[in-house]
Amino acid sequence: MKAAIVGAGPGGLAAALSLHRLGIDCEVFEATPEIRQLGVGLNLLPHAVRELTILGLAPRLAESGVATAELAYHNKFGVPIWREPRGLAAGYNWPQYSLHRGLFQKLLLDAALERLGPDRIHTGHRLQAFRDDSGSVTAEFTDPVTGAALPPHEADILIAADGIHSVARRVFYPSEVQPVYSGRVLWRGTTEAPPFLTGRSMIMAGYANCKFVAYPIREAAPGGPALINWVADVYVGGDTPMARDWNRRTEKSVVLPHFRDWRFDWLDIPALIEGADAIYEYPLVDRDPVPRWSFGRVTLLGDAAHPMYPVGSNGASQAVLDAAAVAAALAATPDNPVLALQNYERERLGKTVAIVHSNRRQGPEIVMQMVEDRAPNGFARLSDVITNAELEEVAGRYKAVAGFDPKELNARV
Ligand SMILES: Cc1cc2nc3c(=O)[nH]c(=O)nc-3n(C[C@H](O)[C@H](O)[C@H](O)COP(=O)(O)OP(=O)(O)OC[C@H]3O[C@@H](n4cnc5c(N)ncnc54)[C@H](O)[C@@H]3O)c2cc1C
Repeated sequence: MKAAIVGAGPGGLAAALSLHRLGIDCEVFEATPEIRQLGVGLNLLPHAVRELTILGLAPRLAESGVATAELAYHNKFGVPIWREPRGLAAGYNWPQYSLHRGLFQKLLLDAALERLGPDRIHTGHRLQAFRDDSGSVTAEFTDPVTGAALPPHEADILIAADGIHSVARRVFYPSEVQPVYSGRVLWRGTTEAPPFLTGRSMIMAGYANCKFVAYPIREAAPGGPALINWVADVYVGGDTPMARDWNRRTEKSVVLPHFRDWRFDWLDIPALIEGADAIYEYPLVDRDPVPRWSFGRVTLLGDAAHPMYPVGSNGASQAVLDAAAVAAALAATPDNPVLALQNYERERLGKTVAIVHSNRRQGPEIVMQMVEDRAPNGFARLSDVITNAELEEVAGRYKAVAGFDPKELNARV
């Protein structure tokens, strides 16, 4: 069997490594002429780290990321609402990692270059169209710089991991136009700053329409600064989002007014915003779930299949789980790739639909909105505002939806 994978983002590269591990021949086609380390931070949950460990990537992850120790929610005054251990500290057999998206993509790319060989990873190949001829699938590419047609590539299956603007998805769902805009914008940056709380804490403060997320993606050397990744998530309204360009910049003066008073005794949010080298602006968008990903010899994976709000640290993690699932399905029925792609879809589609919907309702972060609704001016005692049972119920329910309930995950063989 020969597979063509379109897109060398985290999803496409994880798919290439997963297929290669199970002895399935594959080649990767990426539109950008050169894979540069773009983006800011992301998180990998223990179930995704489990799959990456099976791929032999645990040492590289440990070198590149910070093993997140806890997740903590606060109100807009910086007062704690909920704290829970994460990763190994929570009893998982695998860590949770916070790391730079570019470093994650690079460690996957390096492993793919070593294992598949450089002649199997083709940059400067933008998927333009494909033909499923029953016996095989032929992908057509253009050079993204000149627009010239490149030689077509024939394979047994095509895995489209080409992100939120997937060309393949547009073929299957031509009436689906733009991603769905939430009215909210994400401002993202990294800043060298003193470590806070455990030094490996992921924190959120605020409520649905004005929220600040921060976590280290490089730990502090003794006495030195950590590299803090931060995201400001703010409702700005309007029908039409700004350009959906992951590399679009904005000014500190746009972000600061929303967080001017958010100086907590354990974290100075205005200072984090002031200290960033660059601030990136991206609208909070997702897409309505679709009923099918697999059509004959072609399937969707990662953000092409299920773009979701970056709530609960799921975007990259779910792409890694897709990669493991599609490889396992293909290995299980190597003589029938069409059936394998259907089985992959059956295994993964429903699970990701549940996360897309849960994330639209703020996922586990809903507790911050509950506290804001009940005590907008703050509180003296948290238990007067929200019970521990409510907090535990929300956190536990989301772990089950997103597939990282610790007991269930640790019990997997
Ligand atoms: C430049 C960039 C920066 C990002 N920054 C962040 C961030 O800071 N934090 C965060 O949480 N998430 C970020 N994301 C999104 C995040 O990577 C994904 O949500 C998640 O990791 C799933 O990855 P994916 O591989 O499915 O999709 P993506 O990461 O979007 O990767 C898709 C890949 O397909 C390529 N591609 C697109 N169209 C074509 C085509 N027609 N032919 C061939 N190749 C194509 C793209 O160049 C890209 O390399 C970013 C995505 C991009 C593309």
